[in-house]
Amino acid sequence: MFKLPDLPYAYDALEPYIDEATMRVHHLGHHQGYTNKLNAAIEGTCYENKSIDEILKSIHIHQTAIRNNGGGYWNHNLYWRIMKPGGSEPGGKIAAAIRRDFGSFENFRDAFKQAGLSRFGSGWTWLVSEHGKLHICTTPNQDNPLMKFVDCLGKPVLGMDVWEHAYYLKHQNKRGAYIDDFFHVINWDEVNRLYEESLDK
Ligand code: MN
Repeated sequence: MFKLPDLPYAYDALEPYIDEATMRVHHLGHHQGYTNKLNAAIEGTCYENKSIDEILKSIHIHQTAIRNNGGGYWNHNLYWRIMKPGGSEPGGKIAAAIRRDFGSFENFRDAFKQAGLSRFGSGWTWLVSEHGKLHICTTPNQDNPLMKFVDCLGKPVLGMDVWEHAYYLKHQNKRGAYIDDFFHVINWDEVNRLYEESLDK
C-alpha cells in the first residue's frame, strides 16, 4: 500500500509564492486522492508488491487507472521535494550542465517557462537528464518520463505541476505568474542531487 508522504515543510512555508490554501488542498486532497486510487487500482494485480518506479516503467498506455493515479502519486512526491521555503541558488553540477546545454540560466528559465505556458490543458513540465544531457519536455495529465510510451527520454530532475489546481486559488488564470513564483521556491540542492544520481546510470 502506498502512503501519502508528509510534506517536508509546513503548509504555509512556501508563502507568498505558493499559498497555504493551495498547498493544503493539493496535498491532502489531490495527492491523497491519487494515492488512494492507485492503491485500489493495483489491489490483487501483479503490481501489488512493486515499487512505484517499477510500476510506471512497466505499465502499458491503456492501463488508465494506474497510469493516471500512479503518475499522480509519483509526480507529486517529486514536486514537494524539489521545492523548499525561500528556494536555493542553482549550484554544483546542475548549474554547470544548465549553462552548457542552454547557454545560461536565464535562457533555461525562459525555455522552461515557455514550455509550461504552451502545455495545453493539464500536465507537467520536466527537466530531464539523459545520461547527463539536459532536455525540457512536457507531458499531459499525470504522465511522466518514466512511462515508456511518453515522448520524453531521461530521468526527471525537476518537475513543475501546471494543472490549474496547483495555482488557481492564488494566480487564477495567470499560469505565467505561477511559474515565476515557482522559480522562487525551487530546491536546487535536491535538483542537483537528482542530477548527480542520473550520471551514475
Ligand atoms: Mn497537482
